[in-house]
Amino acid sequence: MQAIDYLYPWHEKSLEQLAASRSRPGHAWLLEGPEGCDPEPLASAFAALVLCEAVAGGSMACGQCSSCRWLASGSHPDYRRVQPSALALVEIEEGEDEPQRKSSTKPSEVIKIEQIRALSDFLSVGTHRGGWRIVQIDPAHRLTAESANALLKTLEEPIPQTLFLLASDQAQALPATIRSRCLQFRVPLPTPDALVSWLGAKLGIDRPEAERVVRLAGGRPSQALIYADKAQAATHRSVMELLASLPDTEVAKVADQLQAVAPVQWVPLLAAWVEDLQRVAMRLEPRRFPEASGRLRDLVARLSPWDLSGFSQWLARERPLLRHPLNARLFAERILDRYSEVIVKKG
Ligand SMILES: [Zn+2]
Repeated sequence: MQAIDYLYPWHEKSLEQLAASRSRPGHAWLLEGPEGCDPEPLASAFAALVLCEAVAGGSMACGQCSSCRWLASGSHPDYRRVQPSALALVEIEEGEDEPQRKSSTKPSEVIKIEQIRALSDFLSVGTHRGGWRIVQIDPAHRLTAESANALLKTLEEPIPQTLFLLASDQAQALPATIRSRCLQFRVPLPTPDALVSWLGAKLGIDRPEAERVVRLAGGRPSQALIYADKAQAATHRSVMELLASLPDTEVAKVADQLQAVAPVQWVPLLAAWVEDLQRVAMRLEPRRFPEASGRLRDLVARLSPWDLSGFSQWLARERPLLRHPLNARLFAERILDRYSEVIVKKG
């Protein structure tokens, strides 16, 4: 469950750079990068490296020592991973263990203050193995304001031999006070070609399909992994049909159907659609939805590029709220209303 099952090949160099600080890693790092860069596997690999008890000068944990084995089984006494409970559940379900869903509590999409407070016992004693102790927090932008505040208090008084490892692809949503307490490390995106090859090899999909997925994902690994999931493909297709039908289909109807789909699934598709509208408005070929170029052109003829650009910027600001809208139906309606206002209705 402490998934260190892969490291993106384009993050190997980043790990080497981080490895240079292995013996004295400091007390807080923020691994951040562009949206969709998926910094978590890199953070996990760095944590494994700092904790590994048999590294022989390279930048990879050995995978064999007691520390590596404990990490792999999720029982390292000097390691804690703090995630929204909904994400931790997904990992459990993907693993071999029985899902441990408690019927009374709804899995949370945010990192709660109790989770940060619960670290105090872990942090109040010495380390078990005499080496470093690591708290990995990801995705860090899902800390609530209260939990960020609680974390800040800990970061302000560094604890010996203790490393906080934060990872986020939306670090701009973190309070500046947290950011300024961390050493910042920039996590890169892959080239589209590297991502296509990696996806093809990892998921066993052919090159044209991998290219389609990478195009749709705008070259972002975490989105590409979602779009490559065959079980999700039908959902994405119907979401796209719904979005493309706006504003000729009423917002209320589309919002009704979208409320069953997680915003984290459909909002990036809307953003990708808008990106293509902007390209077409500039007389460029659509990049993400080349098969829909006719519909894109039709819509572009009915909008002002200025309004579209305003909407695109507004949507980017709304994205950090994605994971925890209070009401999925209202959230969808608010976004779709705003989008529909950009385009002149037919008839
Ligand atoms: Zn090891």
